[in-house]
Amino acid sequence: MTWRCSCGFEAGDFDVICAKCGATKPDDRAVRRILAVVPPGPFDPRTEVSADGKHIAGRIVAHLWIIFVLLPFIAMVVYGLIVAAK
Ligand SMILES: [Zn+2]
Repeated sequence: MTWRCSCGFEAGDFDVICAKCGATKPDDRAVRRILAVVPPGPFDPRTEVSADGKHIAGRIVAHLWIIFVLLPFIAMVVYGLIVAAK
């Protein structure tokens, strides 16, 4: 069930904070209780990428590079050696 923020933005089921103005979901008391205890984060989750995200993205890129560049190159060299040995 979507909810409409006071600013007019239509927020999704799992949105507890309006993506447009940053207001909390009005009828969600648990969220307001958590936000009262937890201080606002050091970065803006809408525009900045976390250090964990960058680390994971780097790992994925490295593995894609190995699978699509290094592995075919090694396979080609090995194939070439096998063909040359005959
Ligand atoms: Zn809003």
